[in-house]
Amino acid sequence: MLREQQPFPDAAREALADAQLRRNLGHATSTIRTKRARVVDEVADWEELRQAGRDLKRETLARLPELLETLEAQVTARGGTVHWARDANEANAIVTGLVRATGSREVVKVKSMATQEIGLNEALEDAGITALETDLAELIVQLAADRPSHILVPAIHRNRREIRDLFLRTIPDVDPALSDDPRALAATARRHLRERFLRARVAVSGANFGVAETGTLAVVESEGNGRMCLTLPRTLITVMGIEKVVPRFRDLEVFLQLLPRSSTGERMNPYTSLWTGVHAGDGPEAFHLVLLDNGRTAVLADEHGRDALHCIRCSACLNVCPVYERTGGHSYGSVYPGPIGAVLSPQLTGVEDNASLPYASSLCGACYDVCPVKIDIPSMLVHLRTQHVEAQRERRVPTPEAIGMAAAAWTMSDASRWEQAQAATRVGRWLGRREDRDAGRIRSLPGPLAAWTDRRDAPRPPTETFRAWWARERGHDA
Ligand code: SF4
Repeated sequence: MLREQQPFPDAAREALADAQLRRNLGHATSTIRTKRARVVDEVADWEELRQAGRDLKRETLARLPELLETLEAQVTARGGTVHWARDANEANAIVTGLVRATGSREVVKVKSMATQEIGLNEALEDAGITALETDLAELIVQLAADRPSHILVPAIHRNRREIRDLFLRTIPDVDPALSDDPRALAATARRHLRERFLRARVAVSGANFGVAETGTLAVVESEGNGRMCLTLPRTLITVMGIEKVVPRFRDLEVFLQLLPRSSTGERMNPYTSLWTGVHAGDGPEAFHLVLLDNGRTAVLADEHGRDALHCIRCSACLNVCPVYERTGGHSYGSVYPGPIGAVLSPQLTGVEDNASLPYASSLCGACYDVCPVKIDIPSMLVHLRTQHVEAQRERRVPTPEAIGMAAAAWTMSDASRWEQAQAATRVGRWLGRREDRDAGRIRSLPGPLAAWTDRRDAPRPPTETFRAWWARERGHDA
C-alpha cells in the first residue's frame, strides 16, 4: 500500500487526460484552501503555534523509545493490552488473531491511514472477516472498490453526481429518486451504517495521538461515525504508528488547534474522542493497542529525513500543491499522496522502491508555507533526489541520464568541444523551424531526445549564441 505500481510520470500522464478528475480536484482543493486561509488568519499567534508543534514533535522523536515504553506502561495499567508490530505482516497477523479470538466475522472501522498503509482490510478479508468503513468518504471508496486519493477526503476525486449513482448501484433499498444533495447522500449512508453499528462487536481504529503520560488515545473526526465505533463495540483495536505518541496530555492543546484549521478549515473539529484503558460498564470491555513501526525507525535514523515523522496528516500540503491538484492522489501509488507522500513513502519503503516520487514536485515551497508543524518538504525532496542519484552511481550499467550528464560534463570541460557543441543549436533552430514557430519552442526532438520534449517545453535556440554575440560586439571571444 506504500509502493507505486507505476512510475509517477506515467500515472500522472493518464490522470492529466481525465478532465472530469481535474475539475473535481480543482473545485475541492480551492474550496478547502480558501476556508483554511480564512481561519488561520484569525489566529494572531499562528506562527508561535506552528513553532510549538514543531518543537513538540522534535522532543517526541528525540525521546521516542522512552515515551513508547511509558505509553505501554500506562495503557497496561489501565486495563489495555499493547502489541508491538515490526511491519505490516506482523500488524495484520496481530489484528486478525484478535478479531478471530472474539468469534466475530465482521468489524467496523474508523478511518485510519495506518490500517490502509498495512492493507488491513485485505488481510481481514483473506481471513474471512468483513471490514466495514464508517467514514463517509472511506465508505464511498470501499463501495466503489476504488482507492483513496486524499489523506482527509479519500473520495475527493468523485463529485456528488457520481456518488449518488454509486449509492443507487451498491446500497440496498435506496430511494430511486435520491438526489445529489450532500445532506441526502449523508442520510443515505447513515441509514446504511446504523444497523451495522448496532450489531458490531469489534471495532478497529487508528489514532491521531497517543499520550504517553496517561495512556490516552485520541481520534478526531467530523461525522460522529468514529465515536460510534469507539464506544459501541465490545472490543476496540487501535493501530497506531509509533510516531503518533506525544509526551504530555497538555500537548494536545497545541495539536488540537493546528489540526482542524489546517485540515478542514474549521476552528474546531466536530468530534474529538479520547479513551484511556477500559472502564466497567462504559465503552469497550477490551482494548488493544498495536504499535506499528513498518519502516519508521529507519526514517528516524536519517537526520535529514526524520522530520517527515512530524506529520499530523492534516493534508494542507496536498490542497496547495499544484502537482497534486492536476494529477490527483492515485498517481502517487501510495496511501500517502501529495507532497508528504512524496517524502514519506520513499523513506518508509527505501528510495529505490518509490524512485519517481521525490521528483513529483515543482519545489515551489507552498507545502512548507502551510504545514502546521513546519516540515521543510522541498529540502527533503532534494535530499531524497540526491540519495536516488547516488544510488544510480552504484549501478554497473549506467542510466541514460547518467550517460547524458557525463557527456555534458565532458563537453563543457573543454572550450573547443563546447564551441563545436554550440553548432548543434543550428540543428535545434532547424528542428523548430516549423513546429510552434510562434510559441518559440520545439515540440519534439528526434530519437531518444524525444523523452525530454515529451514532458517539457524545449525553447527554440536563438539565432545567435552569447559567445557569437560577444565576439561580434567586442571583437574577441567571451
Ligand atoms: S506534511 Fe504538514 S501539511 Fe502535509 S499533511 Fe503533514 S502536517 Fe499536514
